[in-house]
Amino acid sequence: MSAEEKTIAIVGAGQAGGWAAQTLRSEGFGGRIVLIGDEAHRPYERPPLSKSVLAGEALPETTSLQKPEAFDALNVDWRPGVSATRIDGAAKRLHLSGGDVVGYDKLILCTGGRARRLGIPGSELPGVFTLRNLDDAAALGAALMPGRRLLVIGGGWIGLEVASTARRKGLEVTVVEAMQRLCERTVAPEISGYLLRLHASHGVHVELGMGIECLAQGADGNGLIATLADGRTLACDVVLAGIGLIANDELAREAGLQCEGGIVVDSQCRSSDPDILAAGDVAVWHCERAGRRMRLESWQNAQEQGIAAARSALGIAVDHQPLPWFWSDQYGINLQIFGMPAPGHRAVVRGDMESDSFVVFFLDGGKVAAALGPNAARDLRFARRLIERGTEVTPEQLADLQVPLSRL
Ligand SMILES: Cc1cc2nc3c(=O)[nH]c(=O)nc-3n(C[C@H](O)[C@H](O)[C@H](O)COP(=O)(O)OP(=O)(O)OC[C@H]3O[C@@H](n4cnc5c(N)ncnc54)[C@H](O)[C@@H]3O)c2cc1C
Repeated sequence: MSAEEKTIAIVGAGQAGGWAAQTLRSEGFGGRIVLIGDEAHRPYERPPLSKSVLAGEALPETTSLQKPEAFDALNVDWRPGVSATRIDGAAKRLHLSGGDVVGYDKLILCTGGRARRLGIPGSELPGVFTLRNLDDAAALGAALMPGRRLLVIGGGWIGLEVASTARRKGLEVTVVEAMQRLCERTVAPEISGYLLRLHASHGVHVELGMGIECLAQGADGNGLIATLADGRTLACDVVLAGIGLIANDELAREAGLQCEGGIVVDSQCRSSDPDILAAGDVAVWHCERAGRRMRLESWQNAQEQGIAAARSALGIAVDHQPLPWFWSDQYGINLQIFGMPAPGHRAVVRGDMESDSFVVFFLDGGKVAAALGPNAARDLRFARRLIERGTEVTPEQLADLQVPLSRL
């Protein structure tokens, strides 16, 4: 069969899926691409959903991965509003909602994840939101009216970005986090402490180590009442649950593919069925830097792994081992993280942690394993180079502002 007669199906028209489709064409694939997406939208990027789009400062269309004409030029058989419901790996057939069946030569799963729901009494009440897609952002954005009281459940990245946006829109904001510090799963205590100070300085009330028992309608039918784990109650108008993501790996699991909280793939993005690949938030892979299997929920990984999966599907050798990079924007401050800080690493601070610009390096022996900090893009560029090159450095060099990182 010639390449022109082949079909590559992509499930999930999000960031990874959009990049996969674009890459297939840019690598010269002339066959049929079927892009199945259960949302009504063309592939788009999600970071603005908690930032400029939620603030009403950017239009939803600005999030599109490709301009409409560029997307059309890809000549993709795009199926908006359609779900893939079953994979028959033996017959290489994909079953879709509505009854269609698509035969494929290669299948790329880019199904991302969905927001974890609260699962406490009252979590389905009007006024309780999660944030994963454009429709969620439109609904939450409309509810974030000046003067209202927002309760954010979960002090992770999405919760904190929504808190920041809501403050800018003139809401009163409380963040309740079950763990002992903000973003505990992803950053070291130094950065959690910085985030806490940052939010407090912008008037956000943060409760750490606190659960929510239930939500209920306010007595007069207005607003909501949250009951905290210690019995206190909190009146609010809007609730955002930002308590993490569940990988959409059901399709793969039901097809018998190896899954461990996501679809397990190798560094060529191949699942346990070599004709089925996966990329983006749904993919679990062995990160050599971290020395363990992981899923990365990041813009960078969705793009790079989407590209890698497409190339791999075309038989091009790839080795997806990115240096993890993540950023967050809060109160006009840009915080970036390169690499994977781990508990055994030694933290070295460069700059003043009481200010809004510093870097925390994480040393694994004499090498930088990770670096992060607010408003430090230039230093972090050099930090990234140190990580990638495996340069031997001393804590004294890193901490000394007189030693330019560019010289190390
Ligand atoms: C509000 C928000 C803010 C973020 N901010 C940042 C940030 O500042 N920095 C950063 O690095 N990252 C950020 N991220 C993370 C980043 O956006 C994600 O990592 C990225 O979108 C993952 O892309 P993906 O293609 O894997 O998944 P998605 O973009 O979620 O796309 C998956 C698509 O597949 C669809 N789908 C699922 N199952 C099926 C099915 N069976 N059939 C058809 N379609 C299906 C889904 O509906 C979805 O459209 C943010 C995410 C969110 C939600």
